[in-house]
Amino acid sequence: MTAGEGSDRVPATPATGPILPGATLGVLGGGQLGRMFAVAARRLGYRVAVWSDERDAPALAAADLPTHAPYDDAAALAAFTAAIDVCTVEFENLPGELLREVERHVPLRPSADAIAATQHRGREKRALAGLGAPLAPWRPLEAAGTPQAAAAALEAATAQTGRPAVLKTAGFGYDGKGQVAIPADGPWPAAALALLAAQPCVLEAFVDLALELSVVVARSPDGQVRAFPVAENHHARHVLDLTVMPARVATDVADRAEALARRVVTGLGVVGLACVELFLTRDGDLWVNEVAPRPHNSGHVTIEACRVDQFEQQVRAVCGLPLGDPAAVRPGAMTNLLGDLWGGGEPDWPAALAVDGARLHLYGKAAARPGRKMGHLSAVAEDADAAAALVLRARAALTRGGGLAGAATPAPVPRSHA
Ligand code: AMP
Repeated sequence: MTAGEGSDRVPATPATGPILPGATLGVLGGGQLGRMFAVAARRLGYRVAVWSDERDAPALAAADLPTHAPYDDAAALAAFTAAIDVCTVEFENLPGELLREVERHVPLRPSADAIAATQHRGREKRALAGLGAPLAPWRPLEAAGTPQAAAAALEAATAQTGRPAVLKTAGFGYDGKGQVAIPADGPWPAAALALLAAQPCVLEAFVDLALELSVVVARSPDGQVRAFPVAENHHARHVLDLTVMPARVATDVADRAEALARRVVTGLGVVGLACVELFLTRDGDLWVNEVAPRPHNSGHVTIEACRVDQFEQQVRAVCGLPLGDPAAVRPGAMTNLLGDLWGGGEPDWPAALAVDGARLHLYGKAAARPGRKMGHLSAVAEDADAAAALVLRARAALTRGGGLAGAATPAPVPRSHA
């Protein structure tokens, strides 16, 4: 398909050449990743059209052309595709039908096929295995129907993976949602039986983790590939808490991680940006956890730490422009600000900004629910340890006084693993 095929509009730029500033870039999904993409694209002189099915989506506020409509709205689809020259996503769990329809009208980068490969854990693992990517032992599981059938399926699957293990829903999971830990012994957790009775899942061996790593990789339509420095990620309650870039790992580990990420992104045929999440085991093995066909939370630190950031790189890749140099200028760190921080009232922004070098990013979300990503803090420093200490100090300052509203009980600061 060529740009504009199936519609009567003339694309601003021929499909064979780069899509130049002045063109309109479409984004499906309205979260903070789309918002930061829109900011980067507009800085480069593009217009941005964002389509979200949520009224208060953070990216809509940053768009030239916001569309708030259900993803199956045919009139919205026609207007959206008529307005854009190319389309990307900031969220992978979009209806396949929508992705295919958009692709009929304009280039979709990554393609509907590449996105589909990452929407379902079973499909994703099969695709990764086909590329020779190392994975923790796993088994696909069909929806069992009843708790009794689920117990029998878990019995058979754990005979392959061993225990402990992690049961994950096959579709629409992120940040540890839809996951149940299977302990080393004892009865099957009721939550696991309920999960597997209701939907297809995958069972994964529990990995004895030394560290979690991620690599954001950009790939342009002509096949040029550039990888950001490997990031080191620490989670709290299954949600990313702290990223340090470059990861504090031996050079050979970083080299292997980057090579693996490049192989995966190229093998999946991604055009645009993707992130490969990796487990580093205590034995020094690297296993692919999952792939996100879009910018990644761990890549936020590239805004301060790298010569080009992940959002500008996404713009460049999606538009077929030369990719920027992703090298780190200085070591950096990023910590997420979850809605829990609002528990004691509005966080003390001036206190965090008083920490020299701390950069505050807020996503413009109205409601601060526990666990919701509201923003992040980043910093660069002379080394990774100092950058991590700086962002954690700035975050601690947000609640030290109990919040500006002066509530009696300060919100707990999510614990860092650093
Ligand atoms: P996911 O949504 O699959 O990325 O999982 C969220 C987080 O749960 C990961 O970043 C890990 O911290 C943890 N996790 C997921 N799968 C495993 C596993 N097989 N072994 C150990 N920890 C895991």
